[in-house]
Amino acid sequence: MAAVTDDFTKKCEIKQNDTLGKFVVARCNLRAGETLLLEQPIVVLPQMGDRRCSKCFRLTESFCRKCRLLALCEDCEDHDARNCQKLIEMRPSEAQVAVLQGKEHTEVQAALKCLLLREHQETQPLYEEMTQMETQLGARKGTEIWKNYNEHAFVPLETGGVLAKLKSGADEDLVQGLLGILDVNAFEIRAPEPGGSMRGLYRRAALFPHSCMPNLQTAIDDDRRIKVFTNRFIAAGEILYNCYTNILLGSEERRQILKEGKCFDCSCPRCQDPTELGTHMSSFICSQCSCSGGYIIRQPETGIWQCLLNPEHTLKPEFVSNMLERAKEEIFHARDDIYRLELLLAKLTRLLHQNHFLMLDIKQNIASILRQILQNISHRPNKKVYERKIRLCQEILLVLKVIAPGISRLKSIALYELANTQAELARKLFSEQEQSSRDLLAELEQVEIMLRESLRMLLFEPLATPEGQLSRTMLRELKELQDDIKNLQESIEDVVHQ
Ligand SMILES: [Zn+2]
Ligand SMILES: [Zn+2]
Ligand SMILES: [Zn+2]
Ligand SMILES: [Zn+2]
Repeated sequence: MAAVTDDFTKKCEIKQNDTLGKFVVARCNLRAGETLLLEQPIVVLPQMGDRRCSKCFRLTESFCRKCRLLALCEDCEDHDARNCQKLIEMRPSEAQVAVLQGKEHTEVQAALKCLLLREHQETQPLYEEMTQMETQLGARKGTEIWKNYNEHAFVPLETGGVLAKLKSGADEDLVQGLLGILDVNAFEIRAPEPGGSMRGLYRRAALFPHSCMPNLQTAIDDDRRIKVFTNRFIAAGEILYNCYTNILLGSEERRQILKEGKCFDCSCPRCQDPTELGTHMSSFICSQCSCSGGYIIRQPETGIWQCLLNPEHTLKPEFVSNMLERAKEEIFHARDDIYRLELLLAKLTRLLHQNHFLMLDIKQNIASILRQILQNISHRPNKKVYERKIRLCQEILLVLKVIAPGISRLKSIALYELANTQAELARKLFSEQEQSSRDLLAELEQVEIMLRESLRMLLFEPLATPEGQLSRTMLRELKELQDDIKNLQESIEDVVHQ
C-alpha cells in the first residue's frame, strides 16, 4: 500500500531535536530537481466540514447501505470490504446510526477511518506509523478546534457506541490525537470536482519540516501519489524543508496559518526579516516621506509599525489591521470586475508597497481576467491590453524571483504567461505592419529563452497532474516557436541575399 522508493533511505536521514522534533537532512549532495520520495497516502480524507464518498471521494450526504456508518455516494456499490464488515459487526442501534450520520458530525468519518486502520492486521503497521507523527495535543487542548472535534467526532462516536466496540477501545485523547495528526501532517490534494480539495496523509513526506523558503517542492498526481523533489542544489548535511503555506501571503498571514493549523512559530530567514528579503510584501507607504521611498515595516522586537527613514513616523496596529481587513473585503467584492480591481489597485498604491501581498493578489486577479480577454480573439484586444498583462506578469515575477529563487511552479507559470503574451503581441504588431520581421524575430528569440526557462522548471512535475500536462503543451509550443524562428531567419536571409 504505502510504497516507499529506495531514494528516500539513500538520500535522506531522519534526525530529531527539541526545536524541530523529527526532521530530515540530506545524506549526500543533491542536484536541483532530484526526486527524494514517491509515496502513496496512508489515508485520503475530506477537508474538515466536508463529507465524501469512501470510494470515489465525491461530495455526498449518503451512506453505505450495508454498514450505514461510512459515507458512500449513490453511484458507488461498496467501499473497503474489511472496514464494511467490521462496522456491520458493531450492530449499532437505529438511534446510534442517526447520531453517527448526523449532518453536522462530519469529523466522525475521518476519526473512524483512522481508527479502523488499527482493527486489521494488514493496516496496523500504517496505524502505528501514523501515531508516531506529531499531534500537538498539548497546544490544542481547549482550543476552538478541540471543542469542534469533541462535539462532532468524539461525542457522536462515543454515544454511537463505536469506541467501546473497537479492539482496544479509544478515549477522547486518542480521537483528538488522530484528528490532530491529520491537521498537522496532512497534505492538501485535489478533489474530483474542479477547484475542490481533500487531505492525504503520507508517512515520509510529513517528516520534512516547514520553511517559507523551502528547498523542496511537492507534487501530488491523479493517483494521489506524492512526489517530493529538490528545488535547488542541496549540500550533504543540509536540512530539507518543505513549505506548508502559500508563499504569496505576507509574513503575518503565513505565520498565523502555521500557528493555528500546525501549532508552531516559523523562524525561517523570510519570517525574521521585516522587509521579507527586501520584497516589502507586508510594507506600508509612509505618507510623510512617500516621495523619498519611506516604507513602514513592523519591527520584530517591538511589534511597532515604523518608517524605515524616520522612526518617529509610525502606524497604529489597529489602523494596520483595519485597513487590511477593509482592503481584503474590497478585493473580494471586486472579484471579476477588472475596472473595480484597477481602481482599487490605484487607490491602494498610495497606502501599500507595490509588492504588498494584497497588491500582488489584485495584480494576479487582473492578469487572469486579461488572459480571458486575450484568449477571446473576437474581442480583437488592442495593444494596451497586451502591454498591461505583460507589465503585471513582470511585476509578479520580480517578487517570485526573490521568494522562490529555485525551481518553482508559480514562477514557471508566471513566466509562461509572460512569454505567451509577449509572443502574441509581437505577432499582432507584425501582422499590422507596426513592426518589421527583424523586430519580430528579436522578440520571438527572447520569448524562446523565457519559454525554455519556464519549461525547465515544470519538467519535474509528474505527468498525471495539471502542471505535468501543461509541461507537455509547453514542449509542443516551444517546438512550434523554434520552427517559426527558423522560418523567419531564413526569410530575412533570403531578402538580404537578393
Ligand atoms: Zn462514490
Ligand atoms: Zn459499508
Ligand atoms: Zn517562515
Ligand atoms: Zn516616514
